[in-house]
Amino acid sequence: MTDIKSMTREELADALSAMGEPSFRAKQVFSWLHGGARSFDEMSNISKPLRAKFAERFYITAPTAVRKQVSRLDGTIKYLWELRDGNCIETVLMSYHHGNTVCISTQVGCRMGCRFCASTVAGKVRDLAPSEMLDQVLFTQIDSGREISNIVLMGIGEPTDNLDNVLRFLELVNHPEGMNIGMRHISLSTCGVVPGIDRLAEQGLQLTLSVSLHAPDSETRSRIMPVNNAYDVDELFAACHRYFRKTGRRISFEYAMIDGVNDSDAQADLLAKKIRGMPGHVNLIPLNDVVESEFKPSRRVAAFQKRLESHGLTATVRRSLGGDIDASCGQLRRKEMQERGERGKEA
Ligand code: SAH
Repeated sequence: MTDIKSMTREELADALSAMGEPSFRAKQVFSWLHGGARSFDEMSNISKPLRAKFAERFYITAPTAVRKQVSRLDGTIKYLWELRDGNCIETVLMSYHHGNTVCISTQVGCRMGCRFCASTVAGKVRDLAPSEMLDQVLFTQIDSGREISNIVLMGIGEPTDNLDNVLRFLELVNHPEGMNIGMRHISLSTCGVVPGIDRLAEQGLQLTLSVSLHAPDSETRSRIMPVNNAYDVDELFAACHRYFRKTGRRISFEYAMIDGVNDSDAQADLLAKKIRGMPGHVNLIPLNDVVESEFKPSRRVAAFQKRLESHGLTATVRRSLGGDIDASCGQLRRKEMQERGERGKEA
């Protein structure tokens, strides 16, 4: 059985033409799939025998929402989806005045091991298929009734650790016969896997690259992000400079402010020095308190921001949404896994 929604438009056309179908058939099927059809039986402009033939060869992914939490503070919605194999992933929908942004997961769990992050506590289970990434956008839009205008790949998982599937997802979600979301409305966030950044640069996509930096010096960064032992801060900055030269796109540096760890003025000065030479933007994130983590939110966010600005950098503080619903990624899945574990023990 083949995952039909993970096929590109061209692959679908080839597969259906190999089955003896006329070329308009692929257009019909693609449009049903990308419109959210959950089974071939919904495809009313296709004959019943043909639908049955398709169902013998292909399956259609369609997650079920096992939990949905709506923030009373700002309308942020967090979904916990159950996939075909019983695994769960999270998606967050945030509404801003300029549109609706969906934050999607790229893997079930994560193996990067960042010490402050809930998504990585239990490691990686598996990669998500392109269809499973697309489904998060598609079914969030359908369930919420809010049209998605922007996508951030900042949920559970490391996109560069599943880059083939991520690139295919980008092609699918960008397709004019599908959801048609422009690359300029998509951000991809990485913890700093240098070969992944280089490969992305080669693609020449118009998306925004976000780099989860969190510290400008290797000593601090290695303490909080094991990936720094493989690709240290200086190699990472070199890759960022290469990325900018190749694509001309401004990079966004994510910086979660941790009390007494990465929030000194000296670190702000060093950060500014390392970004020099490209138009970087620093996004300061108030640390989300994760139960499993020893780290606490910094109280120097505003001072750190001022210090960066004094060097001519643009630095913004990320507004925290969904504070009442555990909306930072990884937390809801952890909760569900723990409860399932406890239910399993009782049974
Ligand atoms: N693996 C990718 C994308 C997922 S994480 C990456 O590392 O960029 C999305 C963002 O949330 C990253 O910047 C990550 O470092 C940050 N993050 C993780 N846990 C956090 C926490 N407890 N508080 C604030 N930001 C956190």
